[in-house]
Amino acid sequence: MNIQTALLPPHAEMVRAMLERDTAYEGVFFTAVKTTGIFCRPSCTARKPKPENVEFFAHADDCLSAGYRACLRCKPLDAAAIAPDWVQR
Ligand SMILES: [Zn+2]
Repeated sequence: MNIQTALLPPHAEMVRAMLERDTAYEGVFFTAVKTTGIFCRPSCTARKPKPENVEFFAHADDCLSAGYRACLRCKPLDAAAIAPDWVQR
């Protein structure tokens, strides 16, 4: 296990958060789909991929360097959208 992986929540927890679109994990990790080459926020409203096709990254930059492109729907590179609830209210 490398340092990158150690920073992430347990794999099963990330899969659960992704499938439930858990906004508590915004900015904690990103989901990258091997079959589409796209990466998303955990709370993305796009149809969820099969967990076995997903890679998890702690940073959007890591997704980019792995060759993934940002999702147009959830815009994982848009830092403003990661602002906590109290900012948006
Ligand atoms: Zn998305």
